[in-house]
Order: sequence, then structure tokens, then C-alpha cells
Amino acid sequence: MEYPIEASCQCGQVTYKLFKAPKIVLACHCKECQKLATSPFSVTAVVDTESIEFQGEMKEWSRLADSGNTNAAKFCPVCGTRIYHYNPEDLSTVKLKLKPVGLTDDSVFAPSAHIWVSEKQGWYQIPDGVKVAQKQS
Ligand SMILES: [Zn+2]
Ligand SMILES: [Zn+2]
Repeated sequence: MEYPIEASCQCGQVTYKLFKAPKIVLACHCKECQKLATSPFSVTAVVDTESIEFQGEMKEWSRLADSGNTNAAKFCPVCGTRIYHYNPEDLSTVKLKLKPVGLTDDSVFAPSAHIWVSEKQGWYQIPDGVKVAQKQS
């Protein structure tokens, strides 16, 4: 694996460089993730904030999650591609939840766990050999 891995949004206005492997990569099948990804599930790579650098303008939108935490989303204002999520109320947090799209190398972004499979679309088959959780974990 060669770092940094580079990526961009769909229109190229937002770019980033990732300097270290993500801590964990999850596939989330909850209904909120289906909407945000306009896809049967979303892939989230948990990365340290100091191991990533962003360029370009991003807009923010947030919602209250089931857990009571605020879930803030950063996205490209031009093409709407979701870039990452984070919790703005948790100042101790050094992690952000990257939406790994448009990568120069995607080999480290295979999810090791699938969560919220209780809300999974019926036609999608979970691959063998990954952890599965009905809800959060
Ligand atoms: Zn864009
Ligand atoms: Zn989800």
C-alpha cells in the first residue's frame, strides 16, 4: 500500500489525501445511510483527523442521530458528494467518518463489518467472512 491515497468528489472541487490506513471500515445498512449514499448501504472509513488533508470548499448539514449525538456531514456544495461525517459536540474526538469515494487506491477500503443489517435491503447478500451486527455493533 502506497500512501498518501488521493481522492476527490464527483466534480473534483473537493480533494483529499489520506496518509495512513483507516482504523476500521464499516458497511452500514441503516435507512439513513441508504438515503445519504443513494445506495443499498454506505461505506465508512474511520480515520484520524491528523492523517488526512482536505482541499476545497465544503458545506455542512447535521441531524440528531438515534443515539442522541449530533451527526454532522460535510459535502461538496457543487456536486453534492458526501465527503465525511463527524460529531461536532465531541471535542475529544480525533476521528472522522470518511466516505471513501473516488480513490486512487481502494484496496484498504473493503468493509470488515456490516452493521444495521436489520434494515438491509432484501436482495443484497452479505459476503462471507465479515462481522455482522443487527444494529450498531
Ligand atoms: Zn464536487
Ligand atoms: Zn447507517
